[in-house]
Amino acid sequence: MIYDYILVGQGISGTILSHRLISKGKSVLIFDNNHLHSSTKIAAGIINPITGRKFVKSWIIDDLIPEAIKCYKELETDLNIKLVHQANIVRVIFNAESQRYWERIILNDSAERYISKNPDLSSYKNILHPIYDFGEVQNSYRIDVASLVKKFQEEWMQSGILINEQFDFNHLTFNESEIIYKSHKAEKIIFCEGYRSIYNPLFNYLPFQPVKGEAIKFSIDNFEANKMLRHKHFIVPLSKGIFWSGGGYQWDVIDETPSPSFLKNWKSDMNKILQVEPIIHTHQAAVRPAVKGRRPLLGNHPIYKNAYIFNGMGTKGASLVPYWSKHFVNHLLKNNNIDKQVDIKRF
Ligand SMILES: Cc1cc2nc3c(=O)[nH]c(=O)nc-3n(C[C@H](O)[C@H](O)[C@H](O)COP(=O)(O)OP(=O)(O)OC[C@H]3O[C@@H](n4cnc5c(N)ncnc54)[C@H](O)[C@@H]3O)c2cc1C
Repeated sequence: MIYDYILVGQGISGTILSHRLISKGKSVLIFDNNHLHSSTKIAAGIINPITGRKFVKSWIIDDLIPEAIKCYKELETDLNIKLVHQANIVRVIFNAESQRYWERIILNDSAERYISKNPDLSSYKNILHPIYDFGEVQNSYRIDVASLVKKFQEEWMQSGILINEQFDFNHLTFNESEIIYKSHKAEKIIFCEGYRSIYNPLFNYLPFQPVKGEAIKFSIDNFEANKMLRHKHFIVPLSKGIFWSGGGYQWDVIDETPSPSFLKNWKSDMNKILQVEPIIHTHQAAVRPAVKGRRPLLGNHPIYKNAYIFNGMGTKGASLVPYWSKHFVNHLLKNNNIDKQVDIKRF
């Protein structure tokens, strides 16, 4: 059999892209090393329309959110699992300077739909040390991307279209019309390897800037909340009193080992934020596929015309992947142009 596509990597990028191709009737064979280097498996999956210290509107967020929610809601129905959790984000305002930035975003008409007119800290008030002030972001979400990817892994392994192994470039060859990998043949190959593309001999010329982050799951005795809280760290309610926290941007060490120094700093920060002691359940680390210029990487290899990349989702895979995978499928199947902002031809 000659597959239409071989995909390498089954994080959120490879998963949604494969799903879209399969839905269009294409045959797909996927390779993933059991999520060994997956960033998706530890991500909180937050879709946050107003980001950063200066409270700015996230890039093309007005287009990203409707596409993301449509895509994940459809998958909820198809897979019979809960993926989409709408939850406002209470943003801590630290001082007069951040107050000015908050006032600026409140006055920005194009951000109106994302700013709650009734900010409310009550669910967190009793456990927090006093803060300067706060605002609240609405139309924000948490997507359970880890469960989504896990669910597809089970389904696709059962149906035989996902092979759980490390893809080895020594076994890849190209000819005019097809690619050959071990005993498998396909018309095209698409790489969705997350930060591991830095080891991909075809695409390692692209300006990846991998950045390690860490995630902690914790609980607090007799405490539950519905909203997310953005203090020095994100605090994200998952289920049954379990919270996700973490983040961190480590550019110097690129590995998946949870670091004692991150944990120590996190505990010290939490001590300053919370009046109560968090009980830590898990501590994990992963590397985000970030890119210089912070825009995704979509496109075709300049020489090997049947090799493609779909990557560079950085810190925002949950919101970027549904929109850009649709765009990419339109390129693959209808030959539509790739938006110049994300086309790898820019490098
Ligand atoms: C701590 C932390 C928190 C985050 N929080 C958020 C958040 O709240 N919201 C958000 O939108 N994003 C968040 N992110 C970012 C998000 O995780 C990424 O944007 C997204 O998961 C990238 O998905 P991907 O599929 O491109 O890459 P990955 O998820 O890394 O998937 C790549 C897959 O390819 C596999 N692979 C690689 N090379 C090979 C090979 N040679 N052979 C076989 N398999 C291979 C890997 O093992 C992996 O399974 C966070 C990241 C971290 C680290």
